[in-house]
Amino acid sequence: MYDAVIAGAGFAGLATAYFARECRVLVVEREAELGARQRSTCAAPVSWIRRLGAGSSVLWEFDRVVIHSPSGHEARIPLPERYCTIDYAEFCRRVAESLDAELALGTRVTGATVDGEGAVMHTDSGSFSGEMLVDATGWRAVVASSLRRGYAPARGRITALETVGEYDARDVHIYYGSRLVPGGYAWVFPVGNGRARIGLGSMRTLKLPKLNRRFLEFLGVERAEGTHHGGVIPCEGLREPVVSQVFVVGDAAGQVLPSTAEGIRKCFEFAEVCGRLMSRVAAGELSREEALRRYAARVEEERGFYRSMLRVQEVVYRLPDRAMDVIIGRINDPTAKRLSDMYFRGEIGMSVLGVLRSALLGR
Ligand SMILES: Cc1cc2nc3c(=O)[nH]c(=O)nc-3n(C[C@H](O)[C@H](O)[C@H](O)COP(=O)(O)OP(=O)(O)OC[C@H]3O[C@@H](n4cnc5c(N)ncnc54)[C@H](O)[C@@H]3O)c2cc1C
Repeated sequence: MYDAVIAGAGFAGLATAYFARECRVLVVEREAELGARQRSTCAAPVSWIRRLGAGSSVLWEFDRVVIHSPSGHEARIPLPERYCTIDYAEFCRRVAESLDAELALGTRVTGATVDGEGAVMHTDSGSFSGEMLVDATGWRAVVASSLRRGYAPARGRITALETVGEYDARDVHIYYGSRLVPGGYAWVFPVGNGRARIGLGSMRTLKLPKLNRRFLEFLGVERAEGTHHGGVIPCEGLREPVVSQVFVVGDAAGQVLPSTAEGIRKCFEFAEVCGRLMSRVAAGELSREEALRRYAARVEEERGFYRSMLRVQEVVYRLPDRAMDVIIGRINDPTAKRLSDMYFRGEIGMSVLGVLRSALLGR
């Protein structure tokens, strides 16, 4: 009997375990090695990576994002703090090393049962009881979906992939344009030593490897790894954070932000809330029910922001190239700063359209 059984040892699962210090924790991961399968570009705030004790995983730091319009206009968006790309396997190993948790690697979670008798996580190697269960299995939300049919909807998904190529860049670059990738965007994230993670993602069903080869040609990249990694980003907005008394964290709970597909910072933020509440349950300060209620209430505070980001996504990914050119061409430095401040304060609402309208009118 554990205090908490966490399904998934990705960003959300490991960070939840990190903050559940008072709990006797079991983390169940289907991969045989931690961080064995990188899906993501893995860019996140440096402060968070260091706070989780994984500073050695930092590859490259940056503090601005350059957005390119279809015909080559550029908008430079400053970040309020330094971000970095990380070595995913190193990150997972470092966080896991600092945990006082048991790990069940190479073990696939198949579902859960929660009833008056208690909570049990079922896996292909037997069942594990815990006072609290956490689903951190990523976009498929294996546990929550086993308890509620249709929990992980098909709408709002972005499919994305990337490779690593020789490309010297200091900043992150984002490219829009239907010639490169319709219904999405392409990117370059430096990882140091003259190399970068180069990829693209779209809401549409496209031949992404072929489009990425074209993008590499467009950038003039001569050498790139032959392999790709990537996957689905559930950008449909927040799902229910608690299902049948199970905490759901990270992509499993739809906590990746629509429009930007930034999920890692949000994993860490919500994992901290979840892990600290679980610690208080283990310490006898809160009931499990009260912890679930408080976790859900904290996530719900951001529902309005996620809805607004979803609306922005629905507009931006459908805009014709000409409109993107005009908008990006008119984002001057003060407007870029305002947009960045609004995004990082979680305040983007319909006001973002006001900022863009002023940009268009040149005010
Ligand atoms: C191509 C791409 C690029 C991205 N780039 C960025 C970026 O630069 N910055 C950013 O903030 N976000 C980015 N994102 C989004 C970000 O990667 C996700 O939001 C983040 O990985 C979510 O973390 P998670 O722990 O919730 O899920 P995941 O990272 O998916 O981790 C889930 C874990 O659960 C395990 N698991 C799954 N099923 C089972 C099971 N049945 N039993 C046991 N274990 C299981 C998996 O093996 C995995 O270890 C990107 C996503 C993609 C696809």
